[in-house]
Amino acid sequence: MTQENTQQDNGEKNVRDVIIVGSGPAGYTAAIYLSRAGYKPLVIAGALTPGGQLINTTEVENYPGFPDGVMGPDLMDSMQKQAEKFGAEIVFDDVVSVDFGDGSDAGAMKSVTCDQGDVYQAPAIVVTTGSNVRKLDVPGEKEYSGKGVSYCATCDGFFFRNKPIVVIGGGDSAFTDAEFLTRFGTSVTLIHRRDEFRAAKIMVDRAKANDKMSFMVNSVVDKINGEDGSAKSVIVRNVKTGETTEIPAAGVFVAVGNTPTTEFLNGALKLDQKGYIEVDGASTRTSLPGVFAAGDVVDSVYRQAVSAAGMGCRAALDAQEYLDSLQ
Ligand code: NAP
Repeated sequence: MTQENTQQDNGEKNVRDVIIVGSGPAGYTAAIYLSRAGYKPLVIAGALTPGGQLINTTEVENYPGFPDGVMGPDLMDSMQKQAEKFGAEIVFDDVVSVDFGDGSDAGAMKSVTCDQGDVYQAPAIVVTTGSNVRKLDVPGEKEYSGKGVSYCATCDGFFFRNKPIVVIGGGDSAFTDAEFLTRFGTSVTLIHRRDEFRAAKIMVDRAKANDKMSFMVNSVVDKINGEDGSAKSVIVRNVKTGETTEIPAAGVFVAVGNTPTTEFLNGALKLDQKGYIEVDGASTRTSLPGVFAAGDVVDSVYRQAVSAAGMGCRAALDAQEYLDSLQ
């Protein structure tokens, strides 16, 4: 085979009907709908955390259809299998750059380049890359990351058996993590910068009734101290009184929210002031024709697995209409 032929084969091999970037509830739902509509979607699922945020969660109690709850990783595994069953192809790599053109040519091929060097092309793209964990940005956080400081309770909780743990944050993640971590730690102290919590009332009530948990409100972590290369304590400052206290903490779990994952777009799509992808009204149409977006990368308000899945469905229907119009 000549080099020219090989290049041509590779080129054809990498052209798809539609490419879905991301593999959380929005991505897999879009894949299920598009494959059932007769298209052959390629899901670029991510190299490190395919399945998105639910992979790092324990029990999900509020996803409809599971009266006894479902483990986050199991739910994502089922979504992946359901997408594959209808013909979606899944690649475990990260998109590092895109070329979506300038939108002037209806139906033009858009291309995405992956970390391993593969380039894929399709006339329609659905971006469902969700969000990344937010950091505290305090001294000691980077130094003790993976040595006491963690962003994933389900991954690392086990390492802090019979040790003091702190959790920072006041949202659903902080409360879910804290409750899970009471299985391991001698104590779990939840540190929150205000005295009101964002977390659902049922989670807050449950945490307050848990003997292993205590709360430091109106408080922020100023520093993480270590000993022998691992985290040992945190310096907590009360934002009302200015008083500082040192709290023993072998495990420091940071759960202070997320920021949308859009760096790889490098300005290709219009973002809002907070960095989320802008879509046209209730649709999933982005600033470029043929490029759609859904889930936490768009939604700074609802951010639920079920709302992301619903939006993934809408993105698939929008993409389908666009693809149908090219035929
Ligand atoms: P979140 O709702 O944005 O909460 C982040 C928390 O961190 C807030 O309490 C915030 O304080 C605090 N925070 C933010 N930046 C901080 C900083 N620099 N220093 C200290 N504290 C900081 O994020 P999340 O808890 O990860 O939840 C994200 C979404 O996932 C939400 O929609 C949530 O409902 C959903 N979720 C659902 C479940 C479930 O239902 N099972 C589980 C996990 C997550 P303020 O309150 O003062 O802003």
